[in-house]
Formats: sequence, C-alpha cells, structure tokens
Amino acid sequence: MKKLILLFSLVYLSFSSLAQTSYLHCGKLIDVEKGKILEEMTVIVEGQKIVGLEKGYKNAEDGVEVIDLKSKTVMPGLFDMHVHIESETAKDGYIKRFTLNEADIAFQSVVYAKKTLMAGFTSVRDLGGTGVNSSLRDAINKGYVDGPTIYSAGKSIATTGGHADPTNGYKSDLMGNPGPAEGVVNSPEEARKAVRQRYKNGADVIKITATGGVLSMAKNGQNPQFFEDELKAIVETANDYGMITAAHAHGDEGMQRAIRAGIKTIEHGTLMSEETMELMKEYDAYYVPTITAGKSVAELAEIEGYYPEVVVPKAKAIGPKIQDTFSKAYKKGVNIAFGTDAGVFKHGENGKEFGYMVEAGMPAMEAIVSATVTPAKLLKVYDQYGSIAKGKMADIIAVEDDPTENVNTMEDVKFVMKKGKIYKN
Ligand SMILES: [Zn+2]
Repeated sequence: MKKLILLFSLVYLSFSSLAQTSYLHCGKLIDVEKGKILEEMTVIVEGQKIVGLEKGYKNAEDGVEVIDLKSKTVMPGLFDMHVHIESETAKDGYIKRFTLNEADIAFQSVVYAKKTLMAGFTSVRDLGGTGVNSSLRDAINKGYVDGPTIYSAGKSIATTGGHADPTNGYKSDLMGNPGPAEGVVNSPEEARKAVRQRYKNGADVIKITATGGVLSMAKNGQNPQFFEDELKAIVETANDYGMITAAHAHGDEGMQRAIRAGIKTIEHGTLMSEETMELMKEYDAYYVPTITAGKSVAELAEIEGYYPEVVVPKAKAIGPKIQDTFSKAYKKGVNIAFGTDAGVFKHGENGKEFGYMVEAGMPAMEAIVSATVTPAKLLKVYDQYGSIAKGKMADIIAVEDDPTENVNTMEDVKFVMKKGKIYKN
C-alpha cells in the first residue's frame, strides 16, 4: 500500500513538474487596462497561465525558460471580431459553392486558421460559414490543428433573398426553399427556430444580415431585410442562450432597426447617419468597422472579371466609404470593437486594420484596446482573456516596434504564445 502511495505521488510530481515555467523579458509591455506602456517587465507563465508580472528582468532559476523579448513590444493576444475562417477571396470564389465538399472547406480552413494565429490573433469571432467553422473551433481546442480560439456563429441568418440566403443567384431548380435550418427566416417564429437550431448545432454567437450586402448575388447592397419583430425574436432568443448578436448592415434604416431590437454589434455600418451613431450610444451597441474589407473589395472590383457583374457597382460604391464612417463614429464616441472581415481579403493581413484606424483618427493605444479588452468583455471572457494579468490565459504576442510610434508594426507580429504554448518566435 505504501509503495502504491509512493508511486502515485511520484506520478503526481512528474506531472506537476511538466507545467513549464517561462520568464518573458519584455522591453516594453502594453498595459491595456490602463492604456500605458511599461518598460523592462517580466511576465511569468506557468503551463497555460500567467502567474505573475514583475518589474525588471527577473533572473531565472534552474528549469525556468527565459524568452528574450527585450527589443520588442509585448501585448495581449489580439481579437478579431469579424472573420470568415472557412474561405478566402478568389476570382473563382463563386463557383466554389458548387465544387467544394465540406472536407475541402475543412482542409483549407486549417491553413487560414494558422495564418490568423501567426498574425497575432489568438481569438476570433467567425461571423458565418457552413458549420465547418464550429468543427474547426473544436479541433483547435483539442489541439489537432493550430489556430486561434474561435467563437463561431455557424451559418448566419438572413431573410429570403437576403444577403446570407445561401441560394441567392442560383437558377430556379437549384434554388430550393431554404428555411430556418439553413439560416433563412421570414417570421418571428422562424427567427426563434433558427437561433435555437444554431445553439443546437454548437454556435457560440448569432450573426444576421440586417441589410443587403456587397458580395451576395443580389442587386441591392443596403436595403433593410428584416422587420423589427423578427429582429426582436432573434435577440430575445439569443439572450436566453447567452449568445451575443451581430448584424451585418450597410444601410441606415436596417441598422436602426437592428439597434432598437437590441443587436449588440453592428458590422461594417457603412452608411451610418449621425442619428444612428447617437442610437448606438443610447443602446450601448458596438461598431465593428471592417475598414480593410471595404478597401479590399473596392480595389478588387477594379480587376476585370474578378467579381460577378452584379457585385462590381456595389463594391465600388460601398467599400471606400467605411473608413470615413469609422472616423465620424469614433469622434462621436461610439463604442468600437476591432474587426476586419478577413476572408473577404487574405487571412493573416488582419493587422492592416490598425493602420487604417489610426489614419482615421483613433490613437494606436485605443485601437489595441478595441482588439483586446473590448472584445474580451463583449464575449464575456475578460476574466480569462484580453489583458496580461495574473491568473489569465497566457495569450501573449510581441511586435518589433512600439505601435504608438509605428502602427504598421502590427502587420508583422514576431512572437505568438497561445495558452502558454509558443507558436512563433
Ligand atoms: Zn463578413
């Protein structure tokens, strides 16, 4: 019996000593809670977690790994609140709906997930795919593949012919009659069913398309596409399951309806009026700008034949406006959460958004807070993520320069640690 106890305690000891301790010597460290830059700091990581934060470069004892980031600026892992991890823009993008199997989508999404993580984004909210996004989340959490922590919307919800109706633009015998399971609703009852179906399918968040959109095979890129009773049904049902709601919206009327119904984040927000900005503040809604996507679609629309004909005028008209709207909304004091719509442009280029935000008048420090503290609070995970603090998950990245002096350094992340594991150094 004694021998058995000894054996168990030995096994226990060897397991507990497996939790590697690392000292990260940080030349500069961004304190996102206070909006300050600290100099010469040591972050102590044990296993998956941050267990301490000390001034100066702490000397390492035996068995402690020292990670030298003395020439770098260190900050919490970034969040992108709007990505589509399953796909990436391509000239033949539209035909892929008919040629790719789910397994093909799954394999390509593994590549995009890794690119996203290597760009310093340790958490993303996926706002719409086929459902592979939720499976990818699980595979990453199990350690099968490398990628960010994913908060998945599964398949987004639209109305018939709306931006996320999956059979838009199909010939009539292929069009079928998609319903709540496929994310198409036309009444409060169907809206409730669609939300509950997503919960059942393992979604973490709910995404709807409140207005027309640029890249769908439909004429109008901005008209309202939901009635308020349908929107209310979505928000109320999502609230029952603790799911945050996001609405794609370009046009003002659809945006206002979504905000009044209690939708938490407005995506793109292209034609947002000043009145709507006030409404955002009144309802404590958040604006997720996706400036990078806007600029990217406008550029790609100039390439002959890149997009279908019906998409080109929408991309040229809507795309370039987002940065200006962001600038106005920021100056008006609208809550901002960082998001890019990666997938509409190349995954891994998410960091470009910081430069565009700064160009539009937001200080780099605030842009970084909008990609760390703000999304972690919105997703109700701030007790675990979103800052470098004792007891939190060790999601930590580093860039070459101080981003408050050179924001473009955010496009070239040099060090990535997620849950205590180093992916890039
Ligand atoms: Zn999107």
